[in-house]
Amino acid sequence: MKKLQGKTALVTGGGSGIGYTIAHTFEAAGATVWVCDADTGRIDQLNERDRNIRGIVADVGSENDVQNLFESVLNETDGTLDILVNNAGISGPNGPLETLQLQAWLDTLRINLISAFLCCRHALPVMKGQRSGSIVNLSSTAGTHGYPLRTPYASAKWGIIGLTKSLAMEVGGYGIRVNAICPGPVSGARMDRVIDDEAETRGIDSSKVREQFTSQISLKCFVEAEDIAQMALFVCSEQGARISGQALSVDGHTESLSLID
Ligand code: NAD
Repeated sequence: MKKLQGKTALVTGGGSGIGYTIAHTFEAAGATVWVCDADTGRIDQLNERDRNIRGIVADVGSENDVQNLFESVLNETDGTLDILVNNAGISGPNGPLETLQLQAWLDTLRINLISAFLCCRHALPVMKGQRSGSIVNLSSTAGTHGYPLRTPYASAKWGIIGLTKSLAMEVGGYGIRVNAICPGPVSGARMDRVIDDEAETRGIDSSKVREQFTSQISLKCFVEAEDIAQMALFVCSEQGARISGQALSVDGHTESLSLID
């Protein structure tokens, strides 16, 4: 039997990147998968291309959108939801704290952290009724280390760990598990943008910034979206049945996120 046979799952920000890979991995493992994304083009593409995954346009930082999203999903699942992956996130601004705008800080917290609160608020009554469920929140190595020049992102991702550990304690008695995954730098377009932004802020070459990341990772590598998806699968499957309240790093072992000139 497939690892997620018969399960229903919702992956936020699943129109691209890590979320897209998680959605595919879950679908291949037998789950019925919904994804949402704020990017209409990505959802249109997904609905055309991936017949077995249902895409819905929703901004998970909006209370209204999240309400409509859960109404749509639960309507189609007859009110069940086994897995919620709070994956949607943005990089936020890059720069010394005193140069950052309030609105950029608020947006970074809203989309990376408050979105998880909004989605959990809808998923929990369903999961409590079922007396089972698995919630996975995407944090980052920026949620386990200080990350200079990225204070809003690091604050949001540390917040995700606080949310995960506290909520795991609140809902463990209902058979609901809550875990965070902390990816290291993942190969792909998003990390390329993050590196270019930091290089611009510091006035150094992008290759220097890339080298700085790699040199502070014990395995001297970036990770792949597939590595994160496999961890999500493990923790949501029967094999992860007694794992809760954890911040699970998939990062080649990040030693530090220090700035190196
Ligand atoms: P990505 O930018 O490739 O994909 C994120 C997706 O989320 C996009 O499709 C985007 O349209 C969607 N999205 C953005 N804002 C949204 C909103 N308000 N509502 C709904 N959807 C929204 O990013 P990724 O690399 O796949 O990252 C996924 C998660 O993993 C994020 O939470 C990120 O912080 C975390 N993470 C990524 C890395 C990395 O190196 N890529 C490392 C650590 C943690």
